[in-house]
Amino acid sequence: MAAPRTYQFNLPTAGRPDDVMLEETWYPGIRPYWEGASSRRIYDPILGVRAVVIHATAGASSDGAVSVIRDRKASFHWLVPDENEPQHGQLVWACIPEARAAWHVRNTCSHADVWGGATKVNHWSLGIEVVNTQQASDPFSAWQVEATARIVRYCWAKYPNLKHVVSHARLDPSRRSDPGTAFDWDRFRQLVLAGNGHDVPRALAASTRATPRGKRAKKAGTSDGGCCP
Ligand SMILES: [Zn+2]
Repeated sequence: MAAPRTYQFNLPTAGRPDDVMLEETWYPGIRPYWEGASSRRIYDPILGVRAVVIHATAGASSDGAVSVIRDRKASFHWLVPDENEPQHGQLVWACIPEARAAWHVRNTCSHADVWGGATKVNHWSLGIEVVNTQQASDPFSAWQVEATARIVRYCWAKYPNLKHVVSHARLDPSRRSDPGTAFDWDRFRQLVLAGNGHDVPRALAASTRATPRGKRAKKAGTSDGGCCP
């Protein structure tokens, strides 16, 4: 059985990608909430980024996940849509500017193997939420794993000191288990490190650029929140 509290790998200094395209769009209407649901980084916003933290929302919709940002309870940089949403297979949602610290890990949390056990993880990390109920009836789609890997490769290409890719569960094992046992961490790691099978050729990506900007994601009839921090 996969154990989310063990989910971690480190990015090698060799093999950093230099041409990763990310199909992302701001979540509709999110901008007014940036300042109230994130913090100014205490480290350099490029050189200070050391880790990417992988989460799952424990909810059934992107809109439910974003509600925690509107409520100023928590936040994350990207959101990966679920299978029943029109953006699935097309794009990921950008929610908080990468230059700001999103609120996805509690300030007191740390792990000895993640940047020397430093706390205040939000200030030196980026957070990705994958929409998934974490119920046995809701597997992650192959695309969700691929899209999450693509975001990490994008970050790897962009942030020269990025090293750690880690689950929320590893950083906060007493309270969190996300992204959960159903998230195929081995395949995810392979996609990040090898880059095979998910770097969309530019021409193809342009031709499939989808989904009208500003179109709101359908609500799945739930008011679930995100899992964090
Ligand atoms: Zn989480």
